[in-house]
Amino acid sequence: MTLQELLRGKGTQVHTIAPDATLDDVVQSLMQHRCGSLIVCEGGERTRMVGIITERDIMRACAERRTPLSSYRVRDYMTSNPVTGSPRNTLDDAMAIMTERRIRHLPIVDGEELIGMISIGDAVKARHHLAEVENHYLKTYIHG
Ligand code: AMP
Repeated sequence: MTLQELLRGKGTQVHTIAPDATLDDVVQSLMQHRCGSLIVCEGGERTRMVGIITERDIMRACAERRTPLSSYRVRDYMTSNPVTGSPRNTLDDAMAIMTERRIRHLPIVDGEELIGMISIGDAVKARHHLAEVENHYLKTYIHG
């Protein structure tokens, strides 16, 4: 299965935030959208991706300091130049990248355009579905 096929089922929505937003804004947005990461975009444009910020970065900020999250800017806690996947990568490629790089979120980029986001949860769900389908066909083959 390619990441393009995975996105066809999952959808292409990507939640974004500006670099000068605060970490409190990040927490509110993560809760509102029920997701674990936001792509940081300059100028509010989805195509100008400058970083990624995840719940892990919020945890780091909380551990480092004890002042309110509203006093910290996204640009100081985001990871610049995110590792990305291509729509032509396979599901196995994406799982290998996420495992090797120890990340749970992979923005999918086609040329210059951000076309979706795949989380480790999406990848596990898709892999489980493929295993179930394979299992079904193998049982049908064995039992006739
Ligand atoms: P995560 O496991 O995805 O919550 O992220 C763990 C750390 O890796 C955080 O510091 C993130 O900012 C960073 N991170 C997450 N996804 C990516 C990515 N695709 N490229 C680079 N860094 C990332």
